[in-house]
Amino acid sequence: MKIKYIYAFAFILLHTSILLNAQQRTENLVIVTLDGFRWQEVFGGVDSLLMTDKNYVHDTAGMRNKYWSPDVNERKNKLMPFFWNMIAREGQLYGNRWKGSLVNNANKYWFSYPGYNEIFTGYPDDSVNSNDKIWNKNTNVLEYINRQSGYRDRVAAFTTWDVFPYILNSRRSGIYVNADVDTLRFTDPGLQLLNDMQFLAPQPVGVRPDLITYFAAREYLKKFKPKVLYIAFDETDDFAHGGNYEQYISSAHSQDAMIADLWKTLQGMPEYKENTTLLITCDHGRGDAVKEEWKHHGQKIADAGQIWIAALGPDTRPGGEMKQKETIFQAQIASTLAALLGFNFKPAHPVMEPIRSIYK
Ligand SMILES: [Zn+2]
Repeated sequence: MKIKYIYAFAFILLHTSILLNAQQRTENLVIVTLDGFRWQEVFGGVDSLLMTDKNYVHDTAGMRNKYWSPDVNERKNKLMPFFWNMIAREGQLYGNRWKGSLVNNANKYWFSYPGYNEIFTGYPDDSVNSNDKIWNKNTNVLEYINRQSGYRDRVAAFTTWDVFPYILNSRRSGIYVNADVDTLRFTDPGLQLLNDMQFLAPQPVGVRPDLITYFAAREYLKKFKPKVLYIAFDETDDFAHGGNYEQYISSAHSQDAMIADLWKTLQGMPEYKENTTLLITCDHGRGDAVKEEWKHHGQKIADAGQIWIAALGPDTRPGGEMKQKETIFQAQIASTLAALLGFNFKPAHPVMEPIRSIYK
């Protein structure tokens, strides 16, 4: 009798500990994408060939002063201090191919709409092969989360590119998607000010500046406290296509600073402090520094399907630069996002397995 009792007690203890291990702390998600930003700069800082090329940089001396160091650690720190002082210390970074960490597009197209479709639907759909404003037929993980109890109407996206309402199918999904200069119809004074600014701001890449997308997202976060927030930056891709390496780098540096500001904002709010996971990635890679290929991407550009992922949050153990054996695919992100919140994303289409090391 007594022994039985001990066994029962041990059994309960064992199960409790399993449950405790399975107990994740993530209640909120923030996802940020840097359009077409290369892993080469994330893990290597500014590129020595490109920063000295007068075709791509006006002020080569200024760029050297601000971003260059012969030491790769110093160099990447100068470009992305939040990534290398914060995420590398307390989170995880995947995709440094120089150290054998491979992260790839599973889709074969290597441009934006197929990439974002893959990130959010978990499905590298061959029929998604255009950047046109086509309502996406595939269910995405944001709309799946938006249907879960406690998350309804608490999922929002702020994007610079005006194709996102279609990619995330805001018409069907019910997610609030604010793109380009969509009017910010809020009575909040901060959002009203940003609304006026976005119509008056210069548009060097033909859409509102990423800075305004960011502040609109941040002020919305403070006011409405969404449980899932997506911010999509765009400038890096546009400046790269324009052959402007200076601005490509400057935008990435500023986006790193905005992400740092966002993290500080989250940790300063009781609703988000220590229960929010931040995941940062990109839609596709680009070519190498040689032969102007860094400006481009798509099927004809070798290596443009090479990407990276960064994660930081209470369920992500500190790992710095990860050296996983298996290749990670972009299509694993959707189920990872769901798993971080304790959900199992199983839509009608096939979905790849989550990246377990991000939350285990
Ligand atoms: Zn592009």
